[in-house]
Amino acid sequence: MATAPDGDDMFDQFLSERGHETEPAGGDTDYNKKQCPDCGGLHDQSASDCTVCGWAPR
Ligand SMILES: [Zn+2]
Repeated sequence: MATAPDGDDMFDQFLSERGHETEPAGGDTDYNKKQCPDCGGLHDQSASDCTVCGWAPR
């Protein structure tokens, strides 16, 4: 499993409990992306806000 920012711990746990792989596969799957809960846009894990609609986690 790759190291994750503190804020992603709960999200990783959520995915793990649902049976999803949470470690990066190095491919081009959407599982390695953050998805904006507002507009559904996909962003890199390093993204801190949505470049599509401007949504940002607080
Ligand atoms: Zn968005």
